[in-house]
Amino acid sequence: MPSPTETAAPLSTLGDDEKLFQDSVYEFADAEIRPRVREMDEHARVPRNLIDALFNLGVMAIEIPDAYGGAGATFFHAVLAVEAISRVDPSIGVLVDVQNTLAANALLRWGSDHIKATWLPRLASSSVGAYALSEAGSGSDAFALTTRATEDADSYVISGRKLWITNGNEADIFIVFATLDPDAGYRGITAVIVERGTEGFTVGKKEDKLGIRASSTCELLFEQCRVPKANVLGDPGKGYKVAIETLNEGRIGIGAQMIGLAQGALDHTLRYVKERKQFGKRSQTSRACSSRSRGLPRRWKLRG
Ligand SMILES: Cc1cc2nc3c(=O)[nH]c(=O)nc-3n(C[C@H](O)[C@H](O)[C@H](O)COP(=O)(O)OP(=O)(O)OC[C@H]3O[C@@H](n4cnc5c(N)ncnc54)[C@H](O)[C@@H]3O)c2cc1C
Repeated sequence: MPSPTETAAPLSTLGDDEKLFQDSVYEFADAEIRPRVREMDEHARVPRNLIDALFNLGVMAIEIPDAYGGAGATFFHAVLAVEAISRVDPSIGVLVDVQNTLAANALLRWGSDHIKATWLPRLASSSVGAYALSEAGSGSDAFALTTRATEDADSYVISGRKLWITNGNEADIFIVFATLDPDAGYRGITAVIVERGTEGFTVGKKEDKLGIRASSTCELLFEQCRVPKANVLGDPGKGYKVAIETLNEGRIGIGAQMIGLAQGALDHTLRYVKERKQFGKRSQTSRACSSRSRGLPRRWKLRG
């Protein structure tokens, strides 16, 4: 009997369905995103009609089950989509990454039935999500956060300031980490959903970044912002579990973003060395590159 290592395909080999899916997303990115990359980078913004196109394609709700309006596909499909999009524009890649691997992921894993019924259909159809953990004094040391959640009857009242929050400008649904008890260390942390427009919540300044400029990276301000207890993800005081488990997948998504970016840089380089002549001839590398050809992708349909 062959051993599992003799029969299993290498991790880098995609199945037919996965390859078709990734090619389809790349085809979309090449046609719809590539022509707008420079303008989006210069103006540091993503046009709403491009976000709508991402929703229509189905890549904003890859793992959300069909019953809530999502594509009902897998985490691996989300990673493939982030990689394919980042090959063209890692700003749009990270927008899609945060939506799937952090926002939708946290709701799917930790949301009550009420939370799933309320917010998953919105995340699947039109609402962008964001994930707000970091603060000025808590980055790698994430659980040193100081944003405070105070219990008051059937609500929590949130006060504090988050920094560097991806999708801050575009999002309607924010997963916010706050502590019920600063003296309890990581044990006080609670994850709660805050909607744009909630009184006491404002999106502050956007960072003027060197790279992935179209992706918004924002400050969030909470001043006595009241949210119902029903908005808590998982258990109060157990938000560190929500953070750790979602970040485990979010980090894989960022790895996919970087692989896509590297592939995009290689694509550019190969095109350039094929064109460029020095001393009256093209380089050896460019001739070797010319022999590579890529078949046209078939279309993988995310939406019926
Ligand atoms: C573009 C962008 C988007 C982001 N989006 C989000 C988001 O959507 N949501 C969110 O919550 N946060 C977000 N962040 C924040 C991000 O999670 C933090 O930047 C990250 O956790 C690092 O924290 P820091 O910037 O405070 O760096 P620090 O934690 O201060 O680290 C600085 C350096 O010190 C090193 N270091 C840290 N601790 C140690 C140690 N114990 N030993 C040795 N070296 C160490 C680090 O590796 C790093 O090189 C984003 C950041 C950026 C730049």
